[in-house]
Amino acid sequence: MHSVLVYHTISSPPQPLPGDIDIPAERFEQQLRWLSRWRRIAKLPETLRAPESDRLVAITFDDGFRDNLTVALPLLERFEMPITLFVTAGFVGREGYLSPEELREISRHPLVTIGAHGFWHRHFTRLPLLDARRELIESRRLLSHLTGTTVDFMAWPYGECDAHLEQLSEECGYRASWSVWKGNNARHSRWRVPLGCRDNMGRFIAKVSGAYFPIKFIERKLNQVRGRDESFQDTGTVGGEVASSWK
Ligand SMILES: [Zn+2]
Repeated sequence: MHSVLVYHTISSPPQPLPGDIDIPAERFEQQLRWLSRWRRIAKLPETLRAPESDRLVAITFDDGFRDNLTVALPLLERFEMPITLFVTAGFVGREGYLSPEELREISRHPLVTIGAHGFWHRHFTRLPLLDARRELIESRRLLSHLTGTTVDFMAWPYGECDAHLEQLSEECGYRASWSVWKGNNARHSRWRVPLGCRDNMGRFIAKVSGAYFPIKFIERKLNQVRGRDESFQDTGTVGGEVASSWK
């Protein structure tokens, strides 16, 4: 199957961020070098159309961190790899995140596609339907306004979605939406592979090469046997999509 990778921030904070979402630039570069040698990197929409046997890799970034522009993009340019940035609309202009001008700049880059990631990075499965709808519509509207482009892809904050939300995303005009591993890997819950600071090269290669979902499946089954609610694994913090041994 295709692998859609999830990155957040390419940085080296003194302590790992909640959810281990930070990756140092040197390691990111090492990963891109491996990908350039062993995989075909595609634009995200191509993974919706191409047969799974093509085993494409698409790169996505969640939340809209500023270092996506200042650190990640120059490296991606070197390897000529396209990315999709799922931007949390309400975070634009906050410290550490893209400013409106920076978002406009990066959205015009030929390698970059902008998608939405909610307005306030809420837990959608806990939101009343009306609020969920407002988040989906307003985030899209603001990002379209700031970038001057159509925004028709979306990634669920924390990867959280269900059948009702998938339907809602369709109704709100999105062409496709991505979770992490929740949902059914359908049009509005496409699975992605999360990467973080605990992924050394061996883990990275295993995750990119299709080991992630089978291992995630076994983990879920084990948790069900133990009677543990999977939702506890979420860190509850921005960007901490899934915090388990394989994230
Ligand atoms: Zn996020």
